Amino acid sequence: MSLAEIRSRVDKAQAAAGRGDDNISLIAVSKVQPDERVAAILDEGHRVFGENRVQEAAGKWPAFREKYDGIELHLIGPLQTNKARQAMELAQAIHTLDRPKLANTLARLAQDMGSCPDLFIQVNTGEEPQKAGVLPAETDAFVAEVRALDLPLKGLMCIPPVDEEPSLHFALLAKIAERNGLTGLSMGMSADFESAIALGATHIRVGSAIFGERVTT
Ligand SMILES: *Cc1c(COP(=O)(O)O)cnc(C)c1O
Repeated sequence: MSLAEIRSRVDKAQAAAGRGDDNISLIAVSKVQPDERVAAILDEGHRVFGENRVQEAAGKWPAFREKYDGIELHLIGPLQTNKARQAMELAQAIHTLDRPKLANTLARLAQDMGSCPDLFIQVNTGEEPQKAGVLPAETDAFVAEVRALDLPLKGLMCIPPVDEEPSLHFALLAKIAERNGLTGLSMGMSADFESAIALGATHIRVGSAIFGERVTT
């Protein structure tokens, strides 16, 4: 599907939800996509991208940044503490803050560097053992912990279980965000971004619908 088609679906979903005036960030997830495809999207004027791996992002985005102004990069994959500095140098937002040790590392680096990307806490709404993220019941306490570190916390992020109705997870994430006074909601991917918008998403992460299928993940 073309970028223009995705944009128009986003607009329609926003209008249907009575959110026509909201600023919803469409993050084009470019992980493992060939450079030509990424360049084509940049040439269409899009500037907001998402990557899963720090290594991969570091390999491709500095060169794109030399050619294109105003690129905004979102890290949406798991982050190891030993890659935190590099992630902070590369990305304008990190969506996968999921543990106290990482929060402490980011806080220390933020002091050191004098800046910090926008942060989202990843919530494991499906309570899946293999998945990253804080459990719903532990999220309020972790939000407080992150705020106490003076980190720029913008909101919450989730990846619903593949075999469950995503809207239940989007609604849960929205509820946890609201009771914590957080306005950012990073939720919704290629298959379900419209329902995420209906439930309040402020950042949708769309990969394959824009770029085509990934060869690997
Ligand atoms: C890959 C990925 C996406 C994009 O998935 P699509 O189904 O291709 O849109 C979104 N969020 C995260 C965290 C991802 O890893």
